Amino acid sequence: MHIAVVEDEKKLASIIKEGLEAEGYVVSLFHDGETAEVELLRNSVIYSLVILDLMLPRKNGFEVCDALRKNGIALPILILTARESVEDKVRALDSGADDFLTKPFSFDELLARLRALDRRSRGKTVDEIKINTLSIQSNTRKVVRAGEDVLLTPTEYDVLKMLIEHSERALTREEISMGLWGSNEVSFSNVVDVHISNLRKKIDDNHEYKIIRTVRGLGYTIQK
Ligand code: CA
Repeated sequence: MHIAVVEDEKKLASIIKEGLEAEGYVVSLFHDGETAEVELLRNSVIYSLVILDLMLPRKNGFEVCDALRKNGIALPILILTARESVEDKVRALDSGADDFLTKPFSFDELLARLRALDRRSRGKTVDEIKINTLSIQSNTRKVVRAGEDVLLTPTEYDVLKMLIEHSERALTREEISMGLWGSNEVSFSNVVDVHISNLRKKIDDNHEYKIIRTVRGLGYTIQK
């Protein structure tokens, strides 16, 4: 799970990054609102969640939040604020934030809120996703094709989930590797091909209807 952390206090930003990485999250740091906004508008598919400070150089957190929502980006947003004011909290929620945390905060509370946000955003999607004869229980990660259990590795499951969540278009290898590992080096792109090939063996090989499709020159998509 790739998290964008937008925080201009560099020391706090590094602490958050290190702490989240120790928990297995992939983290990208941004130190001003404008850079974060440009990146999130361009590459929203590779992120699963945004941690957003309010008082930021160039563009504040309210403006970033507002811009993302106006552009139809539904990523869960957790606001960090140094201020306790009710007015700020109301304004943050009104600009489309999902939750907020007042500084200073305990790291355990941050983790708990991230988990809650992730659960809530998964809750917005239906518990059971059905594509042709494939069925996925998103709460238990159980995958079944034509009545038979399919055992996916955690990474294969994450690739499949990312393709399904963005099925309105094809995802490039670089987007998939950025979403899963925060890196788009060539070696990672090749690893994506290996996972896709394994996924196909497990969910498509014995079936006439192929769910995972290659879009030539672009990447992969799901055929619903
Ligand atoms: Ca700040």
